[in-house]
Amino acid sequence: NQDEDKVVEYMDELEFLALTAGATVVKRFTQKLTQPDSKTFIGSGKAQEIRDYVKENDINTIIFDDELSPSQLKNLEKEIEVKILDRTNLILDIFAQRAQTSYARTQVELAQYQYLLPRLTRMWTHLERQKGGIGMRGPGETEIETDRRIIRDRISLLKEKLKTIDKQMSTQRQNRGKVVRAALVGYTNVGKSTLMNAISKSEVFAENKLFATLDTTVRKVVIGNLPFLLTDTVGFIRKLPTQLVESFKSTLDEVREADLLIHVVDISHESFEDHINSVNQILMEINAHQKPMVMVFNKIDDFSYEKKAEDDLTPETRKNISLEEWKKTWMSKSKYPTVFISALTKENFSEMKKIIYDEVLKIHISRFPYND
Ligand code: GDP
Repeated sequence: NQDEDKVVEYMDELEFLALTAGATVVKRFTQKLTQPDSKTFIGSGKAQEIRDYVKENDINTIIFDDELSPSQLKNLEKEIEVKILDRTNLILDIFAQRAQTSYARTQVELAQYQYLLPRLTRMWTHLERQKGGIGMRGPGETEIETDRRIIRDRISLLKEKLKTIDKQMSTQRQNRGKVVRAALVGYTNVGKSTLMNAISKSEVFAENKLFATLDTTVRKVVIGNLPFLLTDTVGFIRKLPTQLVESFKSTLDEVREADLLIHVVDISHESFEDHINSVNQILMEINAHQKPMVMVFNKIDDFSYEKKAEDDLTPETRKNISLEEWKKTWMSKSKYPTVFISALTKENFSEMKKIIYDEVLKIHISRFPYND
């Protein structure tokens, strides 16, 4: 049953996000509705069920996989009487935890205030005793309780600050001159940082958590005497909060201004095809979908033979698709150069380097046409 499979996948991902934020997940609730309830998102029976469970098991947070409207959030908190987070809130919280540089922190703070502003009437006042915890990082609670005007002022200040840094960064990018620029893009946790380290022999932070990378790292890489710049970018995710897309403009500018995109895919993940689609969707949103691209399918060392297949396959062939079969499918259906590697064991690394080299060379030659 395809729909149910999807729900499980989405919940798996949400649980991983919650885990990354530091929560322990004890129970999942799902509900099938033709459309969400405008007042409470879920139906009143479901809300009652959750409320009972929360009371009996001393639960302190409920997380929704979708973004809730400000009024839905308020109504649900009243009904269930527990702190409620939505997907956006959760992702913002993770970003707040992981922001390393003042630039990333400013971006996250801006996104948090933008999320907060329309929700100011709903306050966690009755939950004040539960200070801290997930969803509470970033703007402190006292700040949250100040009025909208102060937050609006803060938002314009942060925007100004970002504008200044954006200008600096844009100048920096221009100063990189005519060197070919490649950007690693991909869903979060696919192995971009690991690959960056392996290609450039640098030490970029890699971790089995979502969004280890918020800041872009640029490294000079040389393959076969051909130098180019390689950028690691923030991982993409299904339903990336719009506030983040906006405030991570400069980070995404790296992608927008790159000459070549290296799209990394975690083929060991059962929903890797959904991930590819999400990434392509975001590339389209930032108008970067027409750039030359290389598809790098990573983690072949971790491939198990029970991956789900595309929709055009019958249910019988859906399971037990081997890596070889995936390779054949993707080699023929991808309009981009495609390679299957392991960033961990470096299997097929020379093949990957050759493919990247060829693409970089093409761009290089188009810039310096009279070189030979
Ligand atoms: P990013 O979020 O895309 O930058 O992903 P990371 O580079 O942080 O990697 C996420 C996780 O995947 C880490 O635990 C890595 O060790 C792991 N990983 C990366 N590449 C491979 C690979 O080729 N094989 C396996 N098995 N794991 C990998």
